[in-house]
Amino acid sequence: MKFGFDIDDTLIGLREYAFNLYQKNLGQTVPIDVFHALDRVEIHGAFGMTDQEGSKMWSDLVEEIYYTDCPPYPGAIEALQQLEAEGHELYYITARSSEHGENTKEWMKRQGFPVQDDRFFCGMKDAEKVKIIKKLQLDYYFDDKPAVLDTLAGGSVKVLVKDQSYNRHLDMPRVREWADLKNLIRNKKI
Ligand SMILES: [Mg+2]
Repeated sequence: MKFGFDIDDTLIGLREYAFNLYQKNLGQTVPIDVFHALDRVEIHGAFGMTDQEGSKMWSDLVEEIYYTDCPPYPGAIEALQQLEAEGHELYYITARSSEHGENTKEWMKRQGFPVQDDRFFCGMKDAEKVKIIKKLQLDYYFDDKPAVLDTLAGGSVKVLVKDQSYNRHLDMPRVREWADLKNLIRNKKI
C-alpha cells in the first residue's frame, strides 16, 4: 500500500522545538501548558507577538529550527521503518519551501526515516497538497493541519490526523502515538 506523510508536527515535533528556541532567543520563559493550549498552528501568540513579528522570528530562526536537533515523535521512525520493511511505499509531502527540499530530505534520512529520493515532495501550498496526494493515489495520508485535512475529506485516500491541540475539532481517525499505528491498521480502525 501507499502511505503519505506530512513531516512537521506529524512526524517530528517542530513547533515544540521552535517554542523552546523562541524562549531562548527572547530570554522569556513561557510554561509548556501555554504551548499545549494553542488553538492555532503558529506559536508566536504564546510570546505576545503579532503575526508579522512572529513570521519574522520564524524566518530568522528557520535554519536552526529545521536542521539542528528537532526530535522526531517517539515511535515515528520505527513505525515507518516497519512499514517499509513490510513492502509498503512511503511518500513524504511537506509544505516546506522548495529551497529547503534537499536539505530537509537529507536531514530526514540522517534521523533514520526511510526516504526514497523520488518519493519526497515539497514546496506546495496547503491547498495544493490534495493534488499530489490524488495523483500519487495514496491509500493513507497523515497530517496535522486542519487547512490540509479539510481539503482531503470525502476523497478516496484514508486520512488520519496526527493529534495536536489545534486539530481536536476534526472528526477523523486520529493518531496520538506512532507506536499505535500498527494496531490501528491491524484492527481496521482506519
Ligand atoms: Mg504539518
